[in-house]
Amino acid sequence: MRETGRFAPSPTGALHAGSLVAALASWLDVRARGARARWLVRIEDADTERCLPGMGEHILRQLADCGLVPDEAPVWQTQRTASYEAALAKLQALGLAYPCGCSRKDIDLALERLGQRHARHGERVYPGTCRSGLHGKPARAWRFAVEKFQALQPAPVLAWTDRRLGRQQQDVAREVGDFVLRRADGPWAYQLAVVVDDAAQGVTDVVRGEDLADNTARQILLQRALGLPTPGYLHTPLVRGADGEKLSKQNGASAIDTATPAAARAALDAAARVLGLGAAQGASCAEALAGWVPQWRALYNPRAS
Ligand code: GLU
Repeated sequence: MRETGRFAPSPTGALHAGSLVAALASWLDVRARGARARWLVRIEDADTERCLPGMGEHILRQLADCGLVPDEAPVWQTQRTASYEAALAKLQALGLAYPCGCSRKDIDLALERLGQRHARHGERVYPGTCRSGLHGKPARAWRFAVEKFQALQPAPVLAWTDRRLGRQQQDVAREVGDFVLRRADGPWAYQLAVVVDDAAQGVTDVVRGEDLADNTARQILLQRALGLPTPGYLHTPLVRGADGEKLSKQNGASAIDTATPAAARAALDAAARVLGLGAAQGASCAEALAGWVPQWRALYNPRAS
């Protein structure tokens, strides 16, 4: 199989110092695997409400300014809805997806009744209210029947190995619950879209920011349910904002400046430092990128997955 990596930005804002780290890391991981390996870009605009018009094109220009050019035409999630429909239909046919009519308030009340106020990352663990039917409510979302699927797995705890973070594990039923695949008002959930697209694009190695590591167990469960291969995973260090949180627009992430070759190079240098790479020779982005490839190979062992 042709080794394939990807960068999958959401066009909700321009590339910033944090997202450039993921872009650079995924590019280096592909280039360190030799000439046949492919680096792809997927614009994750499935969640149309949060996406800004023209931002996908802008991100592609910023990447190109840094010398990061995909080997094939970028894929846009808004053009992939037929594939998401087919995946959801498959899960429905397997009895692994069910409609849910619960509002946030319904979920809070049900959890209160159960004496559970446990929330992770602000998200409540879904108490399973609609597993037995909609109870007369209109459907608001389709959920993945995690507990039902997990019961078919060899062990309730899903374990996977990250090339940087090492062995990871999660009991998805207990820690996350039946998660959303699609909201009734249209948008496809990230979890479903990412799994379907990574498989369709032949992605063998996912390299992305550490903030997404927590999604991996959910994605592996969906891959198994849909009969899709599981890629290798490497989650990169995060760039932190002044408040110590992951850099985001909310805590002051500003778009990287790629207006001149020198500015683009400075942005790349900063991203490389986050990844533990040393100084690179030459003034251009291309020279620096070429210089980091062997460093990446030595540090992150791209053959390991
Ligand atoms: N679109 C996601 C984001 O920008 C990344 C998805 C992924 O790399 O799996 O946060």
